[in-house]
Amino acid sequence: MLQIVPTPIGNLRDITLRALDVLQACDAVLCEDTRRTQTLLTHFNIHKPLYRYNENDERSVMRCLEALKSGKNCALVSDCGTPCISDPGWRLVKAAVAVGIPVTSLPGPSAVACALAGAGLTGGAFTFLGFLPRKPGKAAKLLMQAASLKHPVVVYESPYRVVKMLDLIAKTLGENIPVIAARELSKVYEEYIRGSARELTGRFKQKNKVQGEFVLIIDCFDTSAPQESLDEDSDFEMP
Ligand code: SAM
Repeated sequence: MLQIVPTPIGNLRDITLRALDVLQACDAVLCEDTRRTQTLLTHFNIHKPLYRYNENDERSVMRCLEALKSGKNCALVSDCGTPCISDPGWRLVKAAVAVGIPVTSLPGPSAVACALAGAGLTGGAFTFLGFLPRKPGKAAKLLMQAASLKHPVVVYESPYRVVKMLDLIAKTLGENIPVIAARELSKVYEEYIRGSARELTGRFKQKNKVQGEFVLIIDCFDTSAPQESLDEDSDFEMP
């Protein structure tokens, strides 16, 4: 059996009781980086064989699949948050499903859900783009397509590229588009920085060094959007 186990995105106390149960009971832990996972497991006094898993290395996927096929109960973790969400894991999950190995996915920490809930935008649909492509043209195209749906658009970004990304958002979706930069979630210096794309770009440019992990949430809701669609689904009959 393959059990997908989310791990904390910063605060170790965010591990779930069930995640600890699964990690404690499994035969092996499949992970991105053995040193990081070893540190996590040691913190919780869990000692398990670790198999390194690399999405781009077919042999490592096969090795993990063989362990599963041999009947081993394996837990899949990534460096932080939920495996397969802008993280390795999906190839192995796909391969496991294809050969009929039971797969279960535990709920738990993920930066996208955490940031979106704290952003205070609409509670309905949103578009998650993960890490945008490095090429500005491709990234801009994806941003425009996503923004046209008028839902919040969520992207992941590293501290090294966040200024460039905010600049691209301003150029692509307009300088005044509201953005929430959720930084260092669940950690000591957690903050939600709110402002227009241009304001946030200026603010980060002033810093010598931008630090921390970021989730950017772009508020693409357009209050001037036509309201006909609301009427179509209305419970009231029009006279
Ligand atoms: N699988 C993870 C999840 O479920 O959120 C995401 C892994 S992805 C490789 C790492 C990115 O997630 C970071 O570059 C950042 O954009 C976001 N992230 C992770 N931890 C974060 C945190 N504590 N605060 C803000 N963003 C975070």
